[in-house]
Amino acid sequence: MIKYDLHTHSTASDGTLTPTELVHRAKEQRVDVLALTDHDTVAGIEEAITAANAHSISLIPGVEISSQWQNTGIHIIGLDIDIQSNELLAQLQQLQTLRITRAQEMGHRLAKEGIPGAYQGALQYTREENLTRTHFARFLVAQGQAHSISSVFKHYLIQGKPGYVKTEWPILEEVVQWIKTAGGIAILAHPARYKFTASKMRRLLQDFKDQGGVGIEVAHGNGNRDETANNIKLAEQFELRASIGSDFHDPAIPWSELGRLPRLPADLPTVWDNGFQRSTAIYP
Ligand code: AMP
Ligand code: MN
Ligand code: MN
Ligand code: MN
Repeated sequence: MIKYDLHTHSTASDGTLTPTELVHRAKEQRVDVLALTDHDTVAGIEEAITAANAHSISLIPGVEISSQWQNTGIHIIGLDIDIQSNELLAQLQQLQTLRITRAQEMGHRLAKEGIPGAYQGALQYTREENLTRTHFARFLVAQGQAHSISSVFKHYLIQGKPGYVKTEWPILEEVVQWIKTAGGIAILAHPARYKFTASKMRRLLQDFKDQGGVGIEVAHGNGNRDETANNIKLAEQFELRASIGSDFHDPAIPWSELGRLPRLPADLPTVWDNGFQRSTAIYP
């Protein structure tokens, strides 16, 4: 039984492990095929490939791209992408610029709320082009503004809260196209997290499919059985291939350990059925 984990983060975005440490931990957790999918960047991939070769793990080059559909932020995983694709790299660079501007604005808004220095504070943890809300959350927890990352999100960083900045992420259709141009496959990440009604989810999936989307993440680290069962139904209904990934960020978060994912029904078509062209090794 090959163990897959196709959605993970490193210090190249908002994970706490370097790509090397991530691969090492994946090996310890007996993951055979690992995709590194940092937010809007492929900066960690080369290091991950080197580490994967040393640990005989198959590393799939990936990315998690921020997009929007009908005014809602939607995350699209690109797997098996060519990280040298000029088109993809140029687009990711634009997203990184957008992240810098957004982070500066978040800093201003938090300062108005009496929390100065948040932009510089968040920058302790990463480069400016990779700043995410998670880095602000870490800084606010370190400052004693809240007890946990999730409570910072709840009180400061989600829509309607003082540190939230609406971002014009690229539309879904464009993002799917960039992934295809880079030779990869597009997968809808964590569908349940968008909190859509069933009919809105069906509309999203139909659009995604029409635009060339290939897969749907049916199980992730923080998911539950009902959610997975529902996602599997959607995968079947829309003929999308199933993917699984822990969305691992941090070893201190126990429910999203690398490779800790449910087994899928044997007859369910998956994103790995046809193999990955850019996998670093054939495993096992
Ligand atoms: P960003 O892409 O900068 O908007 O940041 C999004 C990231 O923040 C996600 O990838 C998660 O890692 C993290 N995140 C979002 N919502 C929450 C939450 N409620 N609690 C903890 N982390 C969250
Ligand atoms: Mn994240
Ligand atoms: Mn996500
Ligand atoms: Mn993620």
